[in-house]
This record gives sequence, structure tokens and C-alpha cells, in this order.
Amino acid sequence: SPALTRAASLIRSIPDYPEPGILFRDITPLLADAEALRVTTEAIIEPFAGQFDVIAGIEARGFLIASAAAISAGVGLIPIRKAGKLPRPAASVDYALEYGTATIEMHDDLPAGSRVLLIDDVLATGGTLAAGRQLIEQLGSHVAGISVLFEIDGLGGRDLIGDLHTVFHSA
Ligand code: IMP
Repeated sequence: SPALTRAASLIRSIPDYPEPGILFRDITPLLADAEALRVTTEAIIEPFAGQFDVIAGIEARGFLIASAAAISAGVGLIPIRKAGKLPRPAASVDYALEYGTATIEMHDDLPAGSRVLLIDDVLATGGTLAAGRQLIEQLGSHVAGISVLFEIDGLGGRDLIGDLHTVFHSA
């Protein structure tokens, strides 16, 4: 749609951030625009209508999209956080980064049998979303789908995650 095309045009590409050689996709101009935020939020949940009971968002930029999407869908929100931020984590998953490892954690606030839509802002190598999916499954919940605002092609994320929905692509 023209509104989504316009929203895509608001994503900024920043060379050499946060490190030399990285082309960083900055979604903040899209978030700052009322219509772009609305149509993007609708597009991220649209294929999963009726198929999920709650949304899980990944710290930190994933929270921005996931909370908007949860209100739009009429469901609750579960934060998946970096290690040490939650007072009583029920599950934790370690995953590999380009240099070193990271850990994410989650509370067990999911009613048994919940169908969870997992949301993040950007897919790169897929490590973060794969860990998020593992976390939800560790708590015995069902991942109803994975949806991202922006997919960076060519970094292997889609191969790692398999089935996922993407609103915008880098290509
Ligand atoms: P991955 O685990 O390699 O797929 O990296 C995805 C995670 O890193 C997401 O949580 C993103 O927020 C963050 N990320 C990676 N690249 C970018 C980028 O270009 N812009 C914004 N966030 C990014």
C-alpha cells in the first residue's frame, strides 16, 4: 500500500554504527510518524489475526513495536528481557553474538496453553529471535508466529528462523 511504502521510506540507514562496517537500520523516524506507526503496527500482526492470545516483545526496540501491536490486537504483552532485568525470571536462554554471548529471560506470566506472537524490530542473523522462541517453548507455551518490522537480507536470519513474517526487507 502507499502508506506502507511511505513508512518504509522513513527507515534510515546509518553507515558505521555502532561499529565500522555495520549499516544500522534506524526505525525511529518511522515510529515518530503517526500514520507510519499505525500502518506498520497493523501490518506486523495482520497475518496472525485470531491465531494468538498474547504478544511477546524483545528488549529493547522490540518493546516499542510489541506494545503498540498488543493494544492494536487487543491482547496483553510479555517482555523478554536481557539478563538481570527481571525480578523473578522463570526461564533463561543463552545465545551466541558475533562476539561473545548474551542471555535473555522471561517471567512465567503466560496462562497454560497460550499462543504467543513473538515480535522484534529487526532480524539480522536471527540469533535473538531463535533464543526468544526457545524461551517461550521452555515455558511450555506455543509460538503462534514470529513477526518483524525489518528483515536484513543475506545474514542468514530467515534460514535460522524458518517461517516468519516481515513487513519490510533490506533488498
Ligand atoms: P540478530 O540476533 O543478529 O538477528 O540481531 C537482531 C537484534 O539486534 C534485534 O533485537 C535488533 O534490535 C538488533 N539489531 C541488529 N541489527 C540492527 C539494525 O540494523 N538496526 C536495529 N537493530 C538491529
